[in-house]
Amino acid sequence: MSSIFDHTLASAREALRSRKISAVELVDAHIDAIERLDGGLNSFITRTPEQARLAAKEADALLAKGEGGSLCGLPIGIKDLFATEGVRTTAASKILGNFVPPYESTVTANLKRDGAISLGKLNLDEFAMGSTNLTSAFGGVENPWKRRDSDAKLVPGGSSGGSAAAVAAGLVLGATGTDTGGSIRQPAAFCGITGIKPTYGRCSRFGTIAFASSLDQAGPMARTLQDCAILLESMAGFDPKDSTSVNRPVPHYEAALGRGVKGLKVGIPKEYRIDGLPAEIEAIWQQGINWLKEAGADVVDISLPHTKYGLPAYYIAALAEASSNLARYDGVRFGERVSGASLDALYEATRAAGFGDEVKRRILLGTYVLSSGYYDAYYLRAQKVRTLLQRDFLKAYETVDVILAPTAPSGAFAWDEKPTDPVQVYLNDVFTVPASMAGVPALSVPAGLDGRGVPLGLQLIGRFFDEETLLAAGSVLERAASFTHRPTIHAGVSA
Ligand code: GLN
Repeated sequence: MSSIFDHTLASAREALRSRKISAVELVDAHIDAIERLDGGLNSFITRTPEQARLAAKEADALLAKGEGGSLCGLPIGIKDLFATEGVRTTAASKILGNFVPPYESTVTANLKRDGAISLGKLNLDEFAMGSTNLTSAFGGVENPWKRRDSDAKLVPGGSSGGSAAAVAAGLVLGATGTDTGGSIRQPAAFCGITGIKPTYGRCSRFGTIAFASSLDQAGPMARTLQDCAILLESMAGFDPKDSTSVNRPVPHYEAALGRGVKGLKVGIPKEYRIDGLPAEIEAIWQQGINWLKEAGADVVDISLPHTKYGLPAYYIAALAEASSNLARYDGVRFGERVSGASLDALYEATRAAGFGDEVKRRILLGTYVLSSGYYDAYYLRAQKVRTLLQRDFLKAYETVDVILAPTAPSGAFAWDEKPTDPVQVYLNDVFTVPASMAGVPALSVPAGLDGRGVPLGLQLIGRFFDEETLLAAGSVLERAASFTHRPTIHAGVSA
């Protein structure tokens, strides 16, 4: 091991257990990397180095006795959408700018229970609404990757852009993300890392700030699938505090990684061959097909006939839920307040000053589709389409075990290439939204670089609660791709 930053979460776990390195050493190195690099990347909204150093000392004491949980001493980052007791939690919004929760989300409590050490709260699109991480009230995040031929700042994707950038740059060994319509998978693809959106209900939503409650799902982001498997095992599980969390035992996910794909049926959905799909994305998809075939999988064409209605239905259903969820930010109970002459004026002034443009746009659209007269025409229809999308997947899984598709229709684009028309940005979610609407699990693995040296991801979509098959097939792709490239900005590279 030439540098401490060559470690994966799994290899660091072994090095800690065999006392080749100490938790203090590991945590200090990462805190130092954040100080060196994050002024530019802006992947953290809040850093917690003092708490992390204390936790590292405690971890070393446990490790010295051969004790400590499965993540003991491992430095990670937390998307700033998870409530963390005593640590500011903003959702990257001004309206929650000073919110310090008196409670801990279940997912972060699970990670803590197992000994993970948080280095702080990671940047995101405001309230997880976006695909660029440029809607954050705390400034955009820079993707640590650069194109070979230019110095332009690239977007890390979103909404979990801070998580993806921090993991890719080696500032943390892993991170939490949330995915409502692609927010784990798309930034993972844009930053050349791995991310899993588990089945809806696999991880508790308790203490995760809600965007669209029937779609929101937490999941891990890390540099390898094994690292994701380790994190997911800790994050997942039934939680009586979330009525949509599902009471099923959590498998030992790591064990599924080596299963292989011999005899596995892999579906290629023809509707994902959309018009205008860049040749490079098409090529990497074909490459993925070949890799799975070479490993013994049986690849077949399938149809998911309602795919084209996925995006429009998502942008109705998700926004309807968002408008209702965000009604609580009124300046009275928590967050920033702007006073007014009356209660109504206080609400108006607080919400006008507290929410950014994208969030306001979504509240307006969401309120519109729920309003009387439009409810049946839009919201109810979107719900019906959602059922059809789900049936497409259930039907497909009668013949195939897993579905392979690109994660996104493009690689990371430059900050100043972000389309001014929001609908153009929404189109980037075309391949991720259907699995979210259906509630089925999906992951993204880095598969290669485009012609300009920017990572591209492949997506696998699985059956309900069959994250294990995803991990098995994903690890075949991971091995075949042997993606060892590193971004330009990385903790292991001295400036
Ligand atoms: N990009 C999608 C959106 O803007 C998905 C966001 C998410 O998954 N949180 O809604």
